[in-house]
Amino acid sequence: MALEGTVALVTGASSGIGYATAKALAAQGAKVALAARRKDRLDALAADIDGLAIEADITDRDQAISAVETTASELGRLDIVVNNAGVMLLGNIVDAPVEEWDRMIALNVQGLMYVAHAAIGHLLEAAESEPRRVADLVNISSVAGRRVGQGGGVYQATKHAVGVFSEALRQEVTARHVRSSLVEPGATESELVTHVREEVRDNLNPNTYKILEAGDIADAVVYIVTRPRHMAVNEILIRPTEQVR
Ligand code: NDP
Repeated sequence: MALEGTVALVTGASSGIGYATAKALAAQGAKVALAARRKDRLDALAADIDGLAIEADITDRDQAISAVETTASELGRLDIVVNNAGVMLLGNIVDAPVEEWDRMIALNVQGLMYVAHAAIGHLLEAAESEPRRVADLVNISSVAGRRVGQGGGVYQATKHAVGVFSEALRQEVTARHVRSSLVEPGATESELVTHVREEVRDNLNPNTYKILEAGDIADAVVYIVTRPRHMAVNEILIRPTEQVR
């Protein structure tokens, strides 16, 4: 129970990677706050792991701040933030419905930044106190944050932005024992692809191999946040073995 006595906040905890990560952190002894819009799902998970369900649309700055402050006030502190909520609206740039870009930028970039900014003071405080004297901000990017190809340029741009933000913040706070880390998953089972426009989805090549499970990514997050105080895992890129690009 490496995380006994700690408090974590996971955004996008109502499904997929966030859901699995919240469970995995709770299994290590953390008290976990769960943020997303679908409160019924959060309530069910909270009952399962004795967590705190917080209904929040983190694209709204006030709601993002409130999710962080509610976690700290209700659970007493904040040691770990998993900045996971995200949306992938694939498609070409030419003729794209620009509202999809707005949604991706608002959530994947701005929402993630709002949560990080609201949380950083609490993390710096936790990093000076027992039981760990170190704190963690884990930002979920993607393979799309490392490579560029046709058919998802704006999603890729948002995930590249996550990588830049995570590294710049790392340099600001690492000497004060807040670890800012980046996780870059490849194809993973979740609801993510269900939000892609039908005509785009119909043209995606189906995976002919076994893709990752959400729990595989949760394992990576647990690995990052359970390292000893002197060790910071800055970045983990994980693909299904058969995923080439
Ligand atoms: P899901 O669609 O299953 O999960 C996305 C989560 O984000 C949901 O819990 C959703 O909850 C939440 N969310 C969406 N909009 C908002 C909002 N405005 N405010 C708060 N929460 C919101 O997908 P994944 O689990 O796959 O995605 C998690 C992260 O992993 C994303 O950042 C994604 O880009 C990244 N990723 C996923 C990969 C994959 O193949 N699955 C690969 C690489 C990266 P609700 O709708 O209830 O608000």
